[in-house]
Amino acid sequence: MTVHILCDFDGTITAEDNIIALMKAFAPPDWVELKDAVLEQRMSIRSGVGQMFALLPSTDAETYRDYLLNRITVRQGFPDLLAQVEAHGWKFDVVSGGMDFFVHPILDGHVDPEHIYCNVADFSAETVTVAWPHACDEHCTNDCGCCKPTIARRIVNPADRLIVIGDSVTDFEVAKRADFVYARGQLITLCEAEGIAYAPFETFDDITHHLQEVAV
Ligand code: MG
Ligand code: ZN
Repeated sequence: MTVHILCDFDGTITAEDNIIALMKAFAPPDWVELKDAVLEQRMSIRSGVGQMFALLPSTDAETYRDYLLNRITVRQGFPDLLAQVEAHGWKFDVVSGGMDFFVHPILDGHVDPEHIYCNVADFSAETVTVAWPHACDEHCTNDCGCCKPTIARRIVNPADRLIVIGDSVTDFEVAKRADFVYARGQLITLCEAEGIAYAPFETFDDITHHLQEVAV
């Protein structure tokens, strides 16, 4: 048996949600209603995020990228967690509802691209369109966009000990399948409500220390 960690990106590896930061900076006010509809689960993530990106002109692609890469900070302790994963021969994948143009550069040198699952922004049309290479399989009807339970079904060996690290409602479905969860923000409330085994974390050091004590 080995450990397999599925780790969220926005608000987990990074301090902030980067799609929200991008929309705040560049989208016309219509994005707020779309965001509220998604958070209140009146609209699917795929539909809401797709419509938000459609508000952004493709010509400013470089501006969006530079803006995010200049402001994103990686949460304390991330490289040490990856070193721990490597030392134990554990598996580690990033599963993110974020876009390739900011997820990949931030993880460059930390996580191999083959272990990064995220959405893809396409700047070839007048406004930004989103490709969804990890859309829901036949077992999920949430229209997730990047479907974390679908990815888990594809890549996690049921014999492995599944650990989920995340911060929000988009991590909830996969957290239900996990053997243990490290949670921040809204995911704490959801784990409490469902009786899912979890520990809260502030930095990745918290997780590394906790895993050191429980690791076999
Ligand atoms: Mg998140
Ligand atoms: Zn789904």
